[in-house]
Amino acid sequence: MSDEKRSLKEITPRSQDYSQWYLDVVLKADLADYGPVKGCMVIKPYGYAIWEHMQADMDRRIKETGHVNAYFPLLIPKSFLEKEKAHVQGFSPECAWVTVGGGEELPEPLAIRPTSEAMICSMYAKWVGSWRDLPVLINQWANVVRWEKVTRPFLRTTEFLWQEGHTLHETEAEAEEETLKMLQVYRSFSEQILAMPVVHGRKSESEKFAGALRTYAIEALMGDGRALQAGTSHNLGQHFSEAYGIEYLGRDQSRQKPWSTSWGSSTRLLGGMIMTHGDDSGLILPPRVAPYQVVIVPIPPRKGDVKEAVLPKCREMLEALRGAGVRAHLDDRDTQLPGWKYADWEMRGVPIRMEIGPKDIEKDQCVLVRRDTREKTFAPLPSVTGRMHELLARIQDALLERARRFLAENTTPVTTWDQFKQVMATRRGFLIAGWCRDVACEAQIKDETRATTRIMPLDREAEAGACIRCGKPSPGEVLFAQAY
Ligand SMILES: [Zn+2]
Repeated sequence: MSDEKRSLKEITPRSQDYSQWYLDVVLKADLADYGPVKGCMVIKPYGYAIWEHMQADMDRRIKETGHVNAYFPLLIPKSFLEKEKAHVQGFSPECAWVTVGGGEELPEPLAIRPTSEAMICSMYAKWVGSWRDLPVLINQWANVVRWEKVTRPFLRTTEFLWQEGHTLHETEAEAEEETLKMLQVYRSFSEQILAMPVVHGRKSESEKFAGALRTYAIEALMGDGRALQAGTSHNLGQHFSEAYGIEYLGRDQSRQKPWSTSWGSSTRLLGGMIMTHGDDSGLILPPRVAPYQVVIVPIPPRKGDVKEAVLPKCREMLEALRGAGVRAHLDDRDTQLPGWKYADWEMRGVPIRMEIGPKDIEKDQCVLVRRDTREKTFAPLPSVTGRMHELLARIQDALLERARRFLAENTTPVTTWDQFKQVMATRRGFLIAGWCRDVACEAQIKDETRATTRIMPLDREAEAGACIRCGKPSPGEVLFAQAY
């Protein structure tokens, strides 16, 4: 084994240190690097290519549900942010401020947006005057800054990329419908594109967005038994219309305040996808977001020149795959041996490796190796291109299926506090338990076990019972977990 191959394979096993495994994969699969400012990561080309596939699909879904994109400024005057009290209280500890511009102290500090409600609602107040102007359905793709103490690439970064939707509606029912519609968009995106199953539901008062009436979220379960909030959707009620003076003349000519919503998903989804599928050899990418779905590795002949013996056939296959709409790549680096290349593309999570050597060409076949199962098969070259989409779809489905099994196996209904503590001290995961809805009781549970309420599920009938901690009445069961 060459030195290079050894260093390539050096990633910490998940069972030894899950968090170090994650960092190893992010760096060695070439997804991101640390920038000079703590918590500000550089997304490298391979990582950014994954994000671009995610973004393109999410953008399509956002537009298909009737929204349009716009762009709002990065800097928000302090006085704008302070208009909604709960909102500013929630976000001020995380805010970064610009106080000097052009060498002079500014008359008013400017916040670097931690989120854009304040900015966008201030503009909506200018734009909306009549019920005919509603609904307003605008999304923005942007970066935001939140000063985080503990950071980790993709999962929690000081600066991150996201989309934030901001909408206005005539009625509470329409706003609630919008909030739940976008929650479903996030849910189907996670499952269909990232093969990442999620639970979905409403957040408790202590976990809801600062200034919201109701917050809903999707949560995924990571390999270490911790939950990851992967997208949120908020019904903001009329709080923000009130605070930012958004008013319109209603159908009955009376002055009305619109109902607003906001919803967001970020580069955090990429971190969730890494932890949902990766293994001790590195990344495993769902085909739908893989920058390369198939990598062709030429096997040189024992004697003679690879350029003459194998490369023409490899190039022919590359063209055929690309022509069929498969994202294919030919690894024709003559500086590395095939074994090194195998390990490299395994680390980078490419769904299918296609090996072509002189003997394969004689038999008009190739070797296909699946990254998820490592299953190795021979395939006839003339028909392999035609079958590739089907194989990629099968891999995508298998990844979702495996992750669904993991989620189901690590969701535990508990009925006693001892059982709750025992599960949290061992394999964690989601715990289904009754809860009295008291914030102090929730804080007590977190202190003792690190578990917080993740969601009150929407797809389960609310069953009344007793609170797992204090025994007081619980109106319905809640999902608990230790969160990222
Ligand atoms: Zn309780």
